[in-house]
Amino acid sequence: MELDHHVVVLGAGYTGMFAAIRLARRTRRTGVRITLVNPSARFTERLRLHQVAAGQELAHLRIADLVAGTGIAFVRGRATAIDPDGRTVTIDDGTRLDYDTLVYALGSATDTSRVPGADVHAFTLNSPQVAVRFHDRLDGLAAGDTVTVCGGGLTGVEAATEVAEARPDLNVTLISATEPGAMMGDRARAHLHGSLRRLGVAVVVGRVTEVLADAVELETGERVASAACLWTTGVAVSPLARESGIAVDDRGLIVVDATLRSVSHPEVHAIGDAAAVRLGWGRVHGTCQSGLPTAQHTADTIARLLRGKQARPFRFGYFHQPVSLGRRDAVIQFTHADDTPRRAYLKGRAAVLYKEFVSGSPVKMYRLGKRVNVSTIVSKGGRATREPAAAR
Ligand SMILES: Cc1cc2nc3c(=O)[nH]c(=O)nc-3n(C[C@H](O)[C@H](O)[C@H](O)COP(=O)(O)OP(=O)(O)OC[C@H]3O[C@@H](n4cnc5c(N)ncnc54)[C@H](O)[C@@H]3O)c2cc1C
Repeated sequence: MELDHHVVVLGAGYTGMFAAIRLARRTRRTGVRITLVNPSARFTERLRLHQVAAGQELAHLRIADLVAGTGIAFVRGRATAIDPDGRTVTIDDGTRLDYDTLVYALGSATDTSRVPGADVHAFTLNSPQVAVRFHDRLDGLAAGDTVTVCGGGLTGVEAATEVAEARPDLNVTLISATEPGAMMGDRARAHLHGSLRRLGVAVVVGRVTEVLADAVELETGERVASAACLWTTGVAVSPLARESGIAVDDRGLIVVDATLRSVSHPEVHAIGDAAAVRLGWGRVHGTCQSGLPTAQHTADTIARLLRGKQARPFRFGYFHQPVSLGRRDAVIQFTHADDTPRRAYLKGRAAVLYKEFVSGSPVKMYRLGKRVNVSTIVSKGGRATREPAAAR
Protein backbone atom coordinates (compact mmCIF):
# COMPACT_ATOMS: atom_id res chain seq x y z
CA MET A 1 0.00 0.00 0.00
CA GLU A 2 1.58 3.31 -1.08
CA LEU A 3 -0.21 6.31 0.47
CA ASP A 4 0.27 9.96 -0.36
CA HIS A 5 -0.47 11.35 3.09
CA HIS A 6 1.37 13.92 5.22
CA VAL A 7 0.98 14.02 9.00
CA VAL A 8 2.36 17.08 10.80
CA VAL A 9 2.89 16.74 14.55
CA LEU A 10 3.18 20.08 16.36
CA GLY A 11 5.23 19.87 19.55
CA ALA A 12 7.91 17.30 20.39
CA GLY A 13 7.21 17.08 24.09
CA TYR A 14 6.21 13.87 25.83
CA THR A 15 3.09 13.28 23.76
CA GLY A 16 4.06 14.65 20.33
CA MET A 17 7.25 12.59 20.38
CA PHE A 18 5.43 9.40 21.31
CA ALA A 19 2.65 9.94 18.76
CA ALA A 20 5.16 10.56 15.95
CA ILE A 21 7.34 7.52 16.76
CA ARG A 22 4.41 5.17 17.23
CA LEU A 23 2.73 6.38 14.05
CA ALA A 24 5.98 5.97 12.09
CA ARG A 25 6.19 2.38 13.29
CA ARG A 26 2.51 1.70 12.54
CA THR A 27 2.69 3.15 9.01
CA ARG A 28 6.18 2.03 7.97
CA ARG A 29 6.56 1.15 4.30
CA THR A 30 3.19 2.77 3.44
CA GLY A 31 4.59 6.03 2.08
CA VAL A 32 3.01 8.13 4.88
CA ARG A 33 5.22 11.14 5.63
CA ILE A 34 5.52 12.46 9.19
CA THR A 35 6.96 15.86 10.10
CA LEU A 36 7.62 16.77 13.74
CA VAL A 37 7.89 20.48 14.62
CA ASN A 38 9.43 21.84 17.82
CA PRO A 39 11.13 25.14 18.75
CA SER A 40 14.16 23.57 20.45
CA ALA A 41 16.41 20.86 19.06
CA ARG A 42 16.61 19.33 22.51
CA PHE A 43 13.92 17.11 24.05
CA THR A 44 12.78 18.59 27.36
CA GLU A 45 12.18 16.12 30.17
CA ARG A 46 9.59 18.31 31.86
CA LEU A 47 9.08 15.70 34.57
CA ARG A 48 12.59 16.47 35.78
CA LEU A 49 12.67 20.28 35.63
CA HIS A 50 12.49 20.59 39.44
CA GLN A 51 15.76 18.65 39.49
CA VAL A 52 17.28 21.26 37.14
CA ALA A 53 16.02 24.01 39.47
CA ALA A 54 17.95 22.34 42.28
CA GLY A 55 21.15 22.27 40.23
CA GLN A 56 21.14 18.80 38.67
CA GLU A 57 22.19 18.29 35.07
CA LEU A 58 19.96 16.21 32.85
CA ALA A 59 20.95 14.01 29.94
CA HIS A 60 21.26 16.00 26.71
CA LEU A 61 18.61 14.39 24.50
CA ARG A 62 18.50 15.60 20.89
CA ILE A 63 15.16 15.21 19.12
CA ALA A 64 16.94 14.32 15.86
CA ASP A 65 18.68 11.41 17.65
CA LEU A 66 15.46 10.20 19.27
CA VAL A 67 13.69 9.98 15.90
CA ALA A 68 16.71 8.80 13.86
CA GLY A 69 15.91 5.78 11.69
CA THR A 70 12.13 6.29 11.80
CA GLY A 71 11.81 8.38 8.63
CA ILE A 72 10.28 11.24 10.67
CA ALA A 73 11.40 14.64 9.38
CA PHE A 74 12.26 16.99 12.25
CA VAL A 75 11.71 20.70 11.63
CA ARG A 76 13.12 23.05 14.23
CA GLY A 77 10.73 25.98 14.57
CA ARG A 78 7.68 27.40 16.33
CA ALA A 79 4.28 27.11 14.69
CA THR A 80 2.83 30.62 14.46
CA ALA A 81 -0.38 30.01 12.51
CA ILE A 82 -2.64 27.19 11.40
CA ASP A 83 -5.07 27.47 8.50
CA PRO A 84 -7.34 24.52 9.25
CA ASP A 85 -9.43 25.01 6.09
CA GLY A 86 -6.41 25.28 3.78
CA ARG A 87 -4.62 22.62 5.92
CA THR A 88 -1.34 24.49 6.32
CA VAL A 89 0.86 25.39 9.26
CA THR A 90 3.17 28.39 9.22
CA ILE A 91 6.47 28.17 11.06
CA ASP A 92 8.24 31.21 12.56
CA ASP A 93 10.86 31.28 9.77
CA GLY A 94 8.04 31.72 7.23
CA THR A 95 8.01 28.08 6.04
CA ARG A 96 4.57 26.67 5.26
CA LEU A 97 3.81 23.01 5.80
CA ASP A 98 0.81 21.44 4.07
CA TYR A 99 -0.82 18.60 5.97
CA ASP A 100 -3.50 16.00 5.51
CA THR A 101 -3.62 15.21 9.22
CA LEU A 102 -2.46 17.46 12.07
CA VAL A 103 -1.54 16.28 15.56
CA TYR A 104 -1.67 19.21 18.00
CA ALA A 105 0.59 18.53 20.99
CA LEU A 106 1.69 21.96 22.21
CA GLY A 107 1.40 21.14 25.91
CA SER A 108 0.93 23.82 28.56
CA ALA A 109 2.98 26.17 30.72
CA THR A 110 2.70 27.66 34.20
CA ASP A 111 0.59 30.81 34.05
CA THR A 112 2.21 33.80 35.75
CA SER A 113 -0.34 36.30 34.44
CA ARG A 114 -3.02 35.90 37.10
CA VAL A 115 -1.20 37.30 40.14
CA PRO A 116 0.48 40.72 39.91
CA GLY A 117 4.26 40.61 39.98
CA ALA A 118 4.54 36.87 39.30
CA ASP A 119 5.55 37.46 35.66
CA VAL A 120 8.26 39.92 36.75
CA HIS A 121 9.65 38.55 40.02
CA ALA A 122 8.93 34.82 39.99
CA PHE A 123 10.74 32.03 38.19
CA THR A 124 8.93 29.02 36.70
CA LEU A 125 9.71 25.48 35.57
CA ASN A 126 8.52 26.26 32.04
CA SER A 127 11.80 25.44 30.34
CA PRO A 128 15.27 24.15 31.25
CA GLN A 129 16.65 27.64 30.61
CA VAL A 130 14.33 29.28 33.17
CA ALA A 131 14.96 26.47 35.66
CA VAL A 132 18.71 27.05 35.29
CA ARG A 133 18.21 30.80 35.86
CA PHE A 134 16.35 30.00 39.08
CA HIS A 135 19.22 27.80 40.17
CA ASP A 136 21.70 30.58 39.35
CA ARG A 137 19.69 32.86 41.62
CA LEU A 138 19.86 30.25 44.40
CA ASP A 139 23.62 30.12 43.92
CA GLY A 140 23.79 33.82 44.74
CA LEU A 141 21.81 33.49 48.00
CA ALA A 142 23.37 33.45 51.46
CA ALA A 143 22.65 30.97 54.25
CA GLY A 144 19.40 31.85 55.99
CA ASP A 145 17.80 33.52 52.96
CA THR A 146 14.22 32.49 52.23
CA VAL A 147 13.11 30.85 49.01
CA THR A 148 9.36 30.71 48.39
CA VAL A 149 7.71 28.05 46.25
CA CYS A 150 4.15 29.12 45.36
CA GLY A 151 1.71 26.30 44.66
CA GLY A 152 1.25 23.22 46.84
CA GLY A 153 0.36 20.88 43.99
CA LEU A 154 2.63 17.96 43.24
CA THR A 155 5.06 20.10 41.19
CA GLY A 156 5.38 22.62 44.03
CA VAL A 157 6.00 19.87 46.59
CA GLU A 158 8.61 18.23 44.34
CA ALA A 159 10.38 21.56 43.77
CA ALA A 160 10.35 22.63 47.44
CA THR A 161 11.75 19.31 48.68
CA GLU A 162 14.36 19.16 45.91
CA VAL A 163 15.64 22.67 46.71
CA ALA A 164 15.56 22.08 50.48
CA GLU A 165 17.57 18.89 50.11
CA ALA A 166 20.14 20.52 47.81
CA ARG A 167 20.44 23.72 49.89
CA PRO A 168 19.79 22.90 53.57
CA ASP A 169 21.28 26.31 54.48
CA LEU A 170 18.30 28.14 52.90
CA ASN A 171 14.82 28.56 54.39
CA VAL A 172 12.37 27.06 51.94
CA THR A 173 8.72 28.08 52.35
CA LEU A 174 5.97 26.31 50.42
CA ILE A 175 2.91 28.55 50.01
CA SER A 176 -0.30 26.86 49.02
CA ALA A 177 -3.96 27.87 48.81
CA THR A 178 -4.89 24.44 50.18
CA GLU A 179 -2.98 21.91 52.26
CA PRO A 180 -0.13 20.42 50.17
CA GLY A 181 -0.92 16.87 49.10
CA ALA A 182 -4.65 17.46 49.63
CA MET A 183 -5.45 15.10 46.76
CA MET A 184 -3.72 12.16 48.48
CA GLY A 185 -5.01 9.68 51.05
CA ASP A 186 -4.29 10.22 54.77
CA ARG A 187 -1.25 7.96 55.02
CA ALA A 188 0.51 9.15 51.86
CA ARG A 189 -0.21 12.76 52.83
CA ALA A 190 1.19 12.15 56.33
CA HIS A 191 4.37 10.79 54.77
CA LEU A 192 4.61 13.80 52.46
CA HIS A 193 4.27 16.22 55.42
CA GLY A 194 6.80 14.23 57.43
CA SER A 195 9.29 14.68 54.58
CA LEU A 196 8.58 18.41 54.36
CA ARG A 197 9.29 18.70 58.11
CA ARG A 198 12.43 16.53 57.89
CA LEU A 199 13.79 18.74 55.12
CA GLY A 200 12.87 21.90 57.04
CA VAL A 201 10.31 23.14 54.49
CA ALA A 202 7.91 25.59 56.16
CA VAL A 203 4.32 25.35 54.90
CA VAL A 204 2.08 28.42 54.72
CA VAL A 205 -1.54 27.86 53.73
CA GLY A 206 -2.85 31.02 52.09
CA ARG A 207 -3.58 32.65 48.76
CA VAL A 208 -0.84 34.77 47.18
CA THR A 209 -2.11 38.16 45.95
CA GLU A 210 1.16 39.72 44.82
CA VAL A 211 4.78 38.79 44.19
CA LEU A 212 7.24 41.57 45.07
CA ALA A 213 10.99 41.77 44.48
CA ASP A 214 11.77 40.65 48.04
CA ALA A 215 8.51 39.21 49.38
CA VAL A 216 5.29 37.41 48.60
CA GLU A 217 2.07 39.02 49.83
CA LEU A 218 -0.89 36.92 50.98
CA GLU A 219 -4.57 37.86 50.93
CA THR A 220 -4.43 38.32 54.73
CA GLY A 221 -1.95 41.15 54.10
CA GLU A 222 0.86 39.08 55.62
CA ARG A 223 4.20 39.26 53.77
CA VAL A 224 6.57 36.31 53.49
CA ALA A 225 10.19 37.32 52.83
CA SER A 226 11.37 35.92 49.51
CA ALA A 227 14.89 36.23 48.11
CA ALA A 228 13.80 33.98 45.22
CA CYS A 229 10.30 32.91 44.24
CA LEU A 230 9.37 29.84 42.19
CA TRP A 231 5.84 29.90 40.72
CA THR A 232 4.30 26.47 40.07
CA THR A 233 0.56 27.06 40.17
CA GLY A 234 -2.00 27.55 37.38
CA VAL A 235 -1.54 26.54 33.75
CA ALA A 236 -2.06 28.24 30.41
CA VAL A 237 -2.02 26.82 26.91
CA SER A 238 -0.86 28.28 23.60
CA PRO A 239 -3.43 30.63 21.97
CA LEU A 240 -2.63 29.06 18.56
CA ALA A 241 -5.70 26.81 18.31
CA ARG A 242 -8.09 29.58 19.36
CA GLU A 243 -6.47 32.09 16.99
CA SER A 244 -6.72 29.56 14.15
CA GLY A 245 -10.46 29.05 14.53
CA ILE A 246 -10.24 25.52 15.92
CA ALA A 247 -12.95 24.94 18.56
CA VAL A 248 -11.50 25.38 22.06
CA ASP A 249 -12.96 25.46 25.57
CA ASP A 250 -12.80 28.42 27.95
CA ARG A 251 -9.17 27.53 28.80
CA GLY A 252 -8.07 27.38 25.15
CA LEU A 253 -7.80 23.58 25.05
CA ILE A 254 -8.97 21.91 21.84
CA VAL A 255 -12.41 20.36 22.28
CA VAL A 256 -12.24 16.78 21.04
CA ASP A 257 -14.75 14.03 20.38
CA ALA A 258 -14.57 10.56 21.94
CA THR A 259 -11.78 9.59 19.51
CA LEU A 260 -9.65 12.71 20.35
CA ARG A 261 -10.37 14.49 17.05
CA SER A 262 -11.27 18.19 17.02
CA VAL A 263 -15.04 18.67 17.00
CA SER A 264 -14.66 21.53 14.49
CA HIS A 265 -11.90 20.03 12.29
CA PRO A 266 -11.78 16.21 12.46
CA GLU A 267 -8.44 16.01 10.61
CA VAL A 268 -6.93 17.76 13.67
CA HIS A 269 -6.15 15.38 16.54
CA ALA A 270 -5.36 16.96 19.93
CA ILE A 271 -3.34 15.19 22.63
CA GLY A 272 -1.67 15.80 25.98
CA ASP A 273 -2.12 18.97 28.02
CA ALA A 274 -3.53 20.87 25.00
CA ALA A 275 -6.60 18.63 24.60
CA ALA A 276 -9.87 18.98 26.53
CA VAL A 277 -10.69 15.33 27.14
CA ARG A 278 -13.86 14.26 28.96
CA LEU A 279 -14.50 10.69 29.97
CA GLY A 280 -17.33 8.93 31.76
CA TRP A 281 -15.83 9.70 35.18
CA GLY A 282 -15.03 13.38 34.47
CA ARG A 283 -12.39 15.68 32.98
CA VAL A 284 -8.84 14.50 32.30
CA HIS A 285 -6.30 16.91 33.80
CA GLY A 286 -2.92 17.46 32.18
CA THR A 287 -0.33 14.90 33.19
CA CYS A 288 2.17 12.74 31.40
CA GLN A 289 0.28 9.78 32.81
CA SER A 290 -2.83 10.69 30.83
CA GLY A 291 -0.98 12.38 27.94
CA LEU A 292 1.00 9.36 26.76
CA PRO A 293 -2.14 7.22 26.36
CA THR A 294 -3.73 10.05 24.31
CA ALA A 295 -0.64 9.99 22.06
CA GLN A 296 -0.78 6.21 21.74
CA HIS A 297 -4.48 6.29 20.97
CA THR A 298 -4.06 9.02 18.35
CA ALA A 299 -1.20 7.25 16.54
CA ASP A 300 -3.36 4.11 16.43
CA THR A 301 -6.42 6.10 15.30
CA ILE A 302 -4.55 7.72 12.41
CA ALA A 303 -3.14 4.35 11.35
CA ARG A 304 -6.65 2.82 11.49
CA LEU A 305 -8.20 5.65 9.47
CA LEU A 306 -5.49 5.30 6.83
CA ARG A 307 -6.39 1.62 6.54
CA GLY A 308 -10.03 2.61 6.02
CA LYS A 309 -11.14 1.48 9.48
CA GLN A 310 -13.28 3.32 12.05
CA ALA A 311 -11.69 5.33 14.86
CA ARG A 312 -12.28 3.90 18.33
CA PRO A 313 -13.23 5.87 21.46
CA PHE A 314 -10.44 6.75 23.91
CA ARG A 315 -10.56 5.16 27.35
CA PHE A 316 -8.35 5.99 30.28
CA GLY A 317 -8.25 5.97 34.07
CA TYR A 318 -5.61 7.35 36.42
CA PHE A 319 -3.75 4.83 38.55
CA HIS A 320 -1.13 6.73 40.55
CA GLN A 321 0.21 10.06 41.83
CA PRO A 322 4.01 9.67 41.95
CA VAL A 323 5.79 12.40 43.93
CA SER A 324 9.52 12.77 44.52
CA LEU A 325 10.54 14.26 47.87
CA GLY A 326 14.15 15.08 47.09
CA ARG A 327 16.46 12.39 45.67
CA ARG A 328 16.24 10.05 48.65
CA ASP A 329 12.51 9.88 49.34
CA ALA A 330 9.24 9.75 47.43
CA VAL A 331 5.61 8.81 47.89
CA ILE A 332 3.30 7.10 45.42
CA GLN A 333 -0.43 7.32 45.99
CA PHE A 334 -2.36 4.71 44.00
CA THR A 335 -5.67 6.00 42.73
CA HIS A 336 -9.07 5.21 41.32
CA ALA A 337 -9.76 6.01 37.67
CA ASP A 338 -10.82 9.57 38.53
CA ASP A 339 -7.58 10.21 40.46
CA THR A 340 -9.15 9.91 43.92
CA PRO A 341 -6.91 7.96 46.32
CA ARG A 342 -7.10 4.23 46.98
CA ARG A 343 -5.81 2.80 50.26
CA ALA A 344 -2.55 1.58 48.71
CA TYR A 345 0.53 3.77 48.65
CA LEU A 346 4.32 3.41 48.55
CA LYS A 347 6.93 5.40 50.44
CA GLY A 348 10.69 5.51 50.98
CA ARG A 349 13.16 3.52 48.88
CA ALA A 350 10.54 1.53 46.94
CA ALA A 351 8.80 4.79 46.04
CA VAL A 352 12.10 6.38 44.94
CA LEU A 353 12.71 3.48 42.53
CA TYR A 354 9.11 3.59 41.30
CA LYS A 355 9.27 7.34 40.68
CA GLU A 356 12.56 7.06 38.81
CA PHE A 357 11.06 4.32 36.65
CA VAL A 358 8.10 6.61 35.85
CA SER A 359 10.33 9.60 35.02
CA GLY A 360 12.72 7.60 32.85
CA SER A 361 10.22 5.43 31.01
CA PRO A 362 9.05 7.87 28.26
CA VAL A 363 12.53 8.16 26.74
CA LYS A 364 13.03 4.39 27.01
CA MET A 365 9.67 3.93 25.26
CA TYR A 366 10.71 6.23 22.40
CA ARG A 367 13.92 4.26 21.85
CA LEU A 368 12.21 0.89 22.00
CA GLY A 369 9.18 2.16 20.05
CA LYS A 370 11.31 2.63 16.95
CA ARG A 371 11.77 -1.14 16.70
CA VAL A 372 8.60 -2.64 18.19
CA ASN A 373 5.04 -1.53 18.92
CA VAL A 374 5.60 -0.47 22.52
CA SER A 375 2.57 0.58 24.54
CA THR A 376 2.35 2.82 27.57
CA ILE A 377 0.74 1.31 30.67
CA VAL A 378 -2.89 2.22 30.23
CA SER A 379 -5.58 1.80 32.81
CA LYS A 380 -8.81 1.80 30.83
CA GLY A 381 -10.69 3.50 33.64
CA GLY A 382 -12.57 1.47 36.16
CA ARG A 383 -15.26 2.58 38.56
CA ALA A 384 -14.90 6.20 39.64
CA THR A 385 -15.63 7.27 43.20
CA ARG A 386 -16.64 10.88 42.68
CA GLU A 387 -20.04 12.05 41.54
CA PRO A 388 -20.85 11.28 37.89
CA ALA A 389 -19.45 13.67 35.28
CA ALA A 390 -22.89 15.06 34.52
CA ALA A 391 -23.18 16.38 38.07
CA ARG A 392 -20.07 18.56 37.73
C1 LIG B 1 8.31 19.80 37.30
C2 LIG B 1 7.18 19.00 36.70
C3 LIG B 1 6.96 17.70 37.15
C4 LIG B 1 5.94 16.93 36.60
N1 LIG B 1 5.76 15.66 37.07
C5 LIG B 1 4.81 14.88 36.52
C6 LIG B 1 4.66 13.52 36.95
O1 LIG B 1 5.36 13.04 37.86
N2 LIG B 1 3.72 12.76 36.33
C7 LIG B 1 2.93 13.26 35.33
O2 LIG B 1 2.11 12.50 34.81
N3 LIG B 1 3.05 14.53 34.90
C8 LIG B 1 3.96 15.36 35.47
N4 LIG B 1 4.10 16.66 35.03
C9 LIG B 1 3.22 17.15 33.93
C10 LIG B 1 3.78 16.74 32.57
O3 LIG B 1 5.09 17.20 32.42
C11 LIG B 1 2.91 17.28 31.44
O4 LIG B 1 1.57 16.87 31.68
C12 LIG B 1 3.40 16.74 30.09
O5 LIG B 1 4.67 17.28 29.82
C13 LIG B 1 2.42 17.07 28.97
O6 LIG B 1 2.94 16.57 27.76
P1 LIG B 1 2.66 17.36 26.40
O7 LIG B 1 3.32 16.60 25.31
O8 LIG B 1 1.21 17.67 26.31
O9 LIG B 1 3.39 18.78 26.60
P2 LIG B 1 4.95 19.09 26.74
O10 LIG B 1 5.70 17.93 27.26
O11 LIG B 1 5.03 20.37 27.49
O12 LIG B 1 5.40 19.34 25.23
C14 LIG B 1 4.91 20.40 24.46
C15 LIG B 1 5.94 20.69 23.37
O13 LIG B 1 5.38 21.60 22.43
C16 LIG B 1 6.37 22.57 22.10
N5 LIG B 1 5.71 23.77 21.60
C17 LIG B 1 5.07 24.74 22.31
N6 LIG B 1 4.59 25.68 21.48
C18 LIG B 1 4.93 25.31 20.23
C19 LIG B 1 4.70 25.87 18.93
N7 LIG B 1 4.01 27.00 18.78
N8 LIG B 1 5.17 25.21 17.86
C20 LIG B 1 5.84 24.04 17.99
N9 LIG B 1 6.08 23.46 19.20
C21 LIG B 1 5.65 24.09 20.29
C22 LIG B 1 7.11 22.77 23.42
O14 LIG B 1 8.35 23.39 23.21
C23 LIG B 1 7.21 21.33 23.92
O15 LIG B 1 8.35 20.71 23.41
C24 LIG B 1 5.10 17.47 35.57
C25 LIG B 1 5.32 18.79 35.12
C26 LIG B 1 6.34 19.55 35.68
C27 LIG B 1 6.55 20.96 35.16
